[in-house]
Amino acid sequence: MKKVALVLLLAVVAPSLALAWLAVRSLRDQEYLLQRQQSLLYQGVADAVATEAQSLLNSYEREFAGVGAQMLVVQSPPDITTSFDDQLRQRWPLAQVGFAVSITGSILSPSPQSRPDTRTFCANYTQFLSCRESAEVYWTSAGNGIGNNDLVDNTSKNWLQNRYGSQVQTSEIDNSLKNFKSKPPTTRNVLPQQQSLPASKEQMQSFSKIAASEAEFCQLMGTASDGMLARFVDNKLNLLFWYRRPENPQYVFGAQLSIPRLVEKLKPSLEKLDPSLRDEVCVALLDDSARPVALSHSGFRTTWKRPFVATEIGETLPHWEVALYLIDPAKLTRSAHTLKLTLGAVIALLVLAIGIGSWLIVTDLNRQLTLARQKTDFVSNVSHELKTPLTSIRMFSELLAEGRVTDPVKQRSYLSIIAAETARLSRLINNVLDFARIERGEKKYHFQTCDLNNLLRDTAETYRPHLEANGFQFDCELPDSPLIVNGDRDALAQVIVNLLSNAEKYSNSRKEISVRLEQQTNPLPHVELKVLDRGLGVPHGSEEKIFEQFYRAHDLLSSGIQGSGLGLTLARQIARAHGGEVVYEPREGGGSCFTLRLPLCPACDNKSA
Ligand code: ADP
Repeated sequence: MKKVALVLLLAVVAPSLALAWLAVRSLRDQEYLLQRQQSLLYQGVADAVATEAQSLLNSYEREFAGVGAQMLVVQSPPDITTSFDDQLRQRWPLAQVGFAVSITGSILSPSPQSRPDTRTFCANYTQFLSCRESAEVYWTSAGNGIGNNDLVDNTSKNWLQNRYGSQVQTSEIDNSLKNFKSKPPTTRNVLPQQQSLPASKEQMQSFSKIAASEAEFCQLMGTASDGMLARFVDNKLNLLFWYRRPENPQYVFGAQLSIPRLVEKLKPSLEKLDPSLRDEVCVALLDDSARPVALSHSGFRTTWKRPFVATEIGETLPHWEVALYLIDPAKLTRSAHTLKLTLGAVIALLVLAIGIGSWLIVTDLNRQLTLARQKTDFVSNVSHELKTPLTSIRMFSELLAEGRVTDPVKQRSYLSIIAAETARLSRLINNVLDFARIERGEKKYHFQTCDLNNLLRDTAETYRPHLEANGFQFDCELPDSPLIVNGDRDALAQVIVNLLSNAEKYSNSRKEISVRLEQQTNPLPHVELKVLDRGLGVPHGSEEKIFEQFYRAHDLLSSGIQGSGLGLTLARQIARAHGGEVVYEPREGGGSCFTLRLPLCPACDNKSA
């Protein structure tokens, strides 16, 4: 048994508890994991919107180059230059100002006098576009446009060589041109709550990936045919596209974009949010001061500088970010809490199930082992019980048969011993057979009305000589009137004999046995037959167990009393088959009291029968 319990402990209980412990530990990380999952998902959304914004800008740059190319097909560059601003704005609404410059550094369009926008533009850009002054710009390498990026014809080559040194080759010019003075990175405008980067790089996240460079316009253009650049003038973002024709690369045409119109164009990308996410997050396009310029949910308000996740758009819109905000920030904590609770409950249930299962297995094993032990004891007890009377019967019958006992008194005494031992044998065999029949469900009772008073008197009187011969004082207190029950006479007699036989067996030095028969009315009319002795009594804790099959409270080894452990089991089964019961209670003053209760036959007149 100990081995089984040990195996169960090592193979089932200990691993289960270890797993449960691990599971409970992992519960603590649930909120973090959930947040991580959400942040990865939302970061993906923000990145996708940022990429779309970036590619939209690239497509507008191509569009501008396309429009420029068309215009230059109709008119030659020298003809169009002066009216380029007006013509461009008519054909391409995204343009706020159109400009044309010659590679030699003269501004051909717009005229500062034409309107306030051109005045501001000329004030801000004349020096820069004519390559007389460098500026802090954000710049993406050329090549997004439609044109050929290697436009170095003799004019521009000569000009570039004049400007940057006559000895250098074209490729060297190109390399030297791109050697801008990069500015140190600046801090980001927003501080996302969730970082998609590994912990070590998280600090880096607070710095912007976009850095400005100090450069001249000619440097930026290099030998490319088109490009875009961004600049902050008076803390306001300016976005410029430029284009030059392969046939006339000495003329550069460009546009300053209208930022509000550009934002209008970018808005639909924010609204294209997956329907399943619409109730969860709000997407915002934040400008360089972390102010929302477009929102997926109009009217949404929050602390704009603390989005859940955010992505910088890139050099085309420097310091602009696509940011995602949780519509209900507490929902994540609630979900994590619910998940924790559910998983906790499941783990607790599983541990409980394993605990109960193990306990049931151990109990059942225990029961099986006890039963197996009891069965082994039973076989040895029964063999012993059979052997003892057989030995006496054989010994006394041989004595008588050989004629070695001549004294008639002794002869009678030996004969009565033989009779008593035979009765004991048949009682034991009856018990074993009956038990086997009851177990198989084959026991048949012949119910009939019988007078229990009469039955008890007969059985007791048959047993009396045996008891008295063994020195017992035997009292029988029977009522005068018959007590009629509906029962099987032989089966009831077997119960009485089993109880009497036990009273005899388990009596110690005080050899006093009484039987009493009484009619009771509470709660229903029934009859109580009590067998009382002054013997060993039933040890405490075994009061109910003695009715279990093969159970012996006083085993042969400790008490030296023979038995099969079946007498009381049978007595109770027979009593229950009659609608009654057999119970034990300790007798006052020492000894046992076994009570057989049987219902009185309701249809019979128990006074007169
Ligand atoms: P057994 O053949 O062992 O007597 P029983 O089923 O008749 O089997 O009794 C079960 C156990 O109950 C006995 O082993 C004994 O320990 C206890 N018992 C039965 N009758 C008495 C009694 N009158 N006094 C004390 N113990 C008793």
